[in-house]
Amino acid sequence: GEVQATPTTSVGGLAARLPTGADSLLDMLDWHLERHPSQVHIQLYETEDRPRPITYAELADGAARVATGLREAGLRERQTVALMLPTGADYFQGFFGVLRAGGIPVPIYPPARPEQLEEHLRRHAGILSNAGARFLITVPEALTVARLLRAWVPSLTAVLTSKSFADATPTALAAHPRPDAIALLQYTSGSTGEPKGVVLSHADLLANIRAMGAAVAVRPDDCFVSWLPLYHDMGLIGAWLGSLCFGVPFVSMSPLSFLARPVRWLRAIHTHRGTLSAAPNFAYELCLKRVQDGDLEGLDLSCWRRALNGAEPVSADTLRRFAKRFERCGLPANALAPVYGLAEAAVGLSFPPPTRGPVIDCIDRERFAVSGEALRVPCTDQHAMSVVGCGRPLPGYHLRILDQDGQPLPERREGRLYFQGPSATRGYYRNPQATAGLIRDGWHDTGDRGYLADAELYLTGRIKDLIIRGGRNLYPYEVEQAVGELSGVRKGCVVAFAAADQARGSERLVLIAETRERDPARRTKLAQRVRERATDVLGSPPDEILLAPPRSILKTSSGKLRRGATRERWAAGRLTNAPPALLWQLLRL
Ligand code: ATP
Ligand code: MG
Repeated sequence: GEVQATPTTSVGGLAARLPTGADSLLDMLDWHLERHPSQVHIQLYETEDRPRPITYAELADGAARVATGLREAGLRERQTVALMLPTGADYFQGFFGVLRAGGIPVPIYPPARPEQLEEHLRRHAGILSNAGARFLITVPEALTVARLLRAWVPSLTAVLTSKSFADATPTALAAHPRPDAIALLQYTSGSTGEPKGVVLSHADLLANIRAMGAAVAVRPDDCFVSWLPLYHDMGLIGAWLGSLCFGVPFVSMSPLSFLARPVRWLRAIHTHRGTLSAAPNFAYELCLKRVQDGDLEGLDLSCWRRALNGAEPVSADTLRRFAKRFERCGLPANALAPVYGLAEAAVGLSFPPPTRGPVIDCIDRERFAVSGEALRVPCTDQHAMSVVGCGRPLPGYHLRILDQDGQPLPERREGRLYFQGPSATRGYYRNPQATAGLIRDGWHDTGDRGYLADAELYLTGRIKDLIIRGGRNLYPYEVEQAVGELSGVRKGCVVAFAAADQARGSERLVLIAETRERDPARRTKLAQRVRERATDVLGSPPDEILLAPPRSILKTSSGKLRRGATRERWAAGRLTNAPPALLWQLLRL
């Protein structure tokens, strides 16, 4: 049950390579700075129409100012600096500024939705305390939040904005960190608990970037278009830092801009002849729903050779519909590329071969639930369950599947997924207990379950979300998807989890679906349809079905479902409580 990487091919012999001799992110920036300082590195969309070009020299210069400012403010080597910044020049310069000053950047998300403020503060206070952050760099709009954080986090000595660095003279500072020096604390999304600070060194980042570059056969004429948040590994490492290291142009817009009008993403790909772009499945769905037919007029996506889809479960249905809808825009049939990864590996862990389209495995649902065996059946079979292939281990990486006793499982047998590779984290920052749970016999536990077949990885769900009921293994994802399709239910806003049933000494399956429906008669009908649909997928009805108002279900800042936290809220009877609007009003952000 162990799979090794297969070598990748380069397209047309035009492979882009990482500069040799550069073994830190700062070396990478300096390499470009020495050769082509005035070349445009980032096309930054700050407003609707025209992007602002940022050259390597501007990035380096801004970073040098931040570095001087931080040093003058008292930052010492290896201290942590939080970046609570939206997508923008401040972020790019701040990130490299912290590195240039010898510090460790800790990106966190800027406050967005008012109703999430309390949660935002609580999570950030936890992260910053764990990181022992000395400084927090933010924008003026978020100063109130930043000051509250400062009051809660003892290590935090000052809050800074770009204004604090405006008068700093850029000076040459320590430029060559060792490859094993920490380059970044990447906090996990917090889907299954509190976010954990994954320690990533310069060597880890470069190794992962190099491997992903090989897996997409990156070329000098590539162009990466991204609206992904820069505080998470996919947007930060996979999109931005990857583009920087390979020297391909990076077209950047904020997630809010994308969410407001998803067609902006596709337009940017069209305008800049983007070849690479990545997003979680929900973003492809959003385009299907919110991009109008009229918007497709003149939209040419024939340049988009790799539409990477990862960070959350990939839906076979989304892939199919996206390919079909955008075929008329010239989207290549093999462009859609489901990928898998996690912060503990830097970001990427498995990618499909560079020119291959998606593969879907159809397996017998019942057999799978009862014995964990992924037995192939025709996709037309009424018991077929389709699982999307998430590619093969990146070159230099290894995967294996173990059963609950730690024994390796053969192909097509589902179990816990472990990995090894050149960017496997050394552990979680100041968290020996979680680190001990992560690394076992030289392998890293992904916390996910899946199976391997023909070297391809098929993910089935998270270990923590597995529901065992009547001797069958059930994964929430499939039933959540199915129920989310029903009209009246908010798509992507359904969770299923197991709750202990003290009286019966077993587990109850609870299903919560968000709806805007208020009419009692129609709610009763909707609940009935939810029950029927869930029963189709699960084989028996859930023990409890709850229709809840919008935003009852908890999600991470990146939009991932937090099933465990939602269960806790439900168990405490707080599921449908009103958001903390009062606190928001008091703060007047
Ligand atoms: P936490 O570890 O705090 O609970 P998280 O696991 O969501 O949060 P990340 O490292 O940001 O934090 O996300 C990695 C996880 O995302 C993977 O372990 C996996 O569960 C999920 N994931 C990523 N890509 C895919 C994919 N293609 N299909 C299914 N799940 C995926
Ligand atoms: Mg995780």
